[in-house]
Amino acid sequence: MEDSNVFIDALDRLRRIGEQTGIPTEVIDALARPKATLSASLPVRMDDGSRGYFEAYRCRYNDALGPTKGGIRFHPEVTIDEVRALALWMTLKCGVVGLPYGGGKGGVIVDAKDLSRLEIERLSRAYVRAMADFIGPDVDIPAPDMYTNERIMGWMADEYQTIKRVHAPDVITGKPIVLGGSLGRSEATGRGAFIVIQELAARKGLTPRETTVAVQGFGNAGYHVARLLHQEGYHIVAISDSKGGIYSDAGFDVESVYQRKQESSELHGVYCEGSVCNMVEHDRITNEELLELDVDILIPAALESVITSENVDRVKAPYIAEVANGPISGDVDTKLFDRGTVVLPDVLTNAGGVTVSYFEWVQNRQGFAWDLEEVRNRLASALIDAFDAVWQIATDEGLSLRSAAYARALRRIGEQVEAQGTRAYFGNAAEE
Ligand code: NAD
Repeated sequence: MEDSNVFIDALDRLRRIGEQTGIPTEVIDALARPKATLSASLPVRMDDGSRGYFEAYRCRYNDALGPTKGGIRFHPEVTIDEVRALALWMTLKCGVVGLPYGGGKGGVIVDAKDLSRLEIERLSRAYVRAMADFIGPDVDIPAPDMYTNERIMGWMADEYQTIKRVHAPDVITGKPIVLGGSLGRSEATGRGAFIVIQELAARKGLTPRETTVAVQGFGNAGYHVARLLHQEGYHIVAISDSKGGIYSDAGFDVESVYQRKQESSELHGVYCEGSVCNMVEHDRITNEELLELDVDILIPAALESVITSENVDRVKAPYIAEVANGPISGDVDTKLFDRGTVVLPDVLTNAGGVTVSYFEWVQNRQGFAWDLEEVRNRLASALIDAFDAVWQIATDEGLSLRSAAYARALRRIGEQVEAQGTRAYFGNAAEE
């Protein structure tokens, strides 16, 4: 799919589900365009003395339910439309969980792997210098996304506070603990996905020890969900990163794959040294092959639009848990539903990240830190409540879980639109 189609595809899906679930057109109209998007060219001093320029975006999509919230992505394929699509999905995600936030997102066109650590620090600070009047603890609160992490959030928070001459750790979430981060934030997206998958497994009668899983993307989100599923007894038979994947019938010990990846930084190098190499057989596979494996649960946890009309007929997994944002293109939703493939939608499955980001923001504003158990318990309760509500809507109304999740979010946003007064309200008033 062309990058520029991601946002159009997201809007098409929004309209289609809006019609299907009886959402008033005034609500869909309110969500059919981002409230504001800032683009900037970031000048960055490179290590060789030259000045590099990087295109950057921040979108505050919709703030009906609170300040906008969403990650910042560093990736060579970032586009303004991708940022808008991701910001729309954040709006829906916050609505599904019932967080007092709207949706936002940011991105920089850069291959972070080509930059030195010092260059990444300068780029991160340059992003905040450009966006300092556009973000803020009560306006728009960034967080990590692909190829951004805790350390980068720490630099960004520091730059914001330096510019504003205030102590405002609540401007950004996903920070290092010592700079006001929350315990449990780094694992939150993966843990949230794990909780949601467990809820589905309980309803479908899946037994972990008899369930195989393939995970595309072994970054923050993919690693933690794979780790927790493995701990629970699921067989993680395939894992991939941007360079390719590995497959083993016997299943991988996720923690040792992670440790080896940290050392070699290449996934296919993980079983090629020392005793582990001799103990575990594996085959190399491509990312495309991973998506088509005959596994029970497929977890795309990297980029969007990896399952499209081009390959959907070859995707065999009966369950797909969208840990990435937008991994399935909208035009295959109906086909998947009709053939009985159960999709755990991104706006629910990966909502653990923004949920604990919200907890971090709350803790920062209270000046009080919660312990890990409290964070985990609150996360579990928020996501189980959201899952139950989505499941109920899907069952009662005969909808896919995605349509049900959208319905829940759109009805919540609809209440805000209604409270402000709709055409029906003002039209009646004019007639009185
Ligand atoms: P990350 O940067 O930590 O990891 C990304 C992973 O994807 C890496 O392992 C990378 O090698 C792999 N990857 C990159 N391109 C790939 C490709 N073409 N094929 C296969 N793998 C590829 O990023 P992350 O934070 O784990 O984010 C992953 C996904 O989860 C994104 O869609 C992101 O929007 C979504 N997400 C993340 C969070 C969060 O809190 N981190 C929250 C919600 C959603």
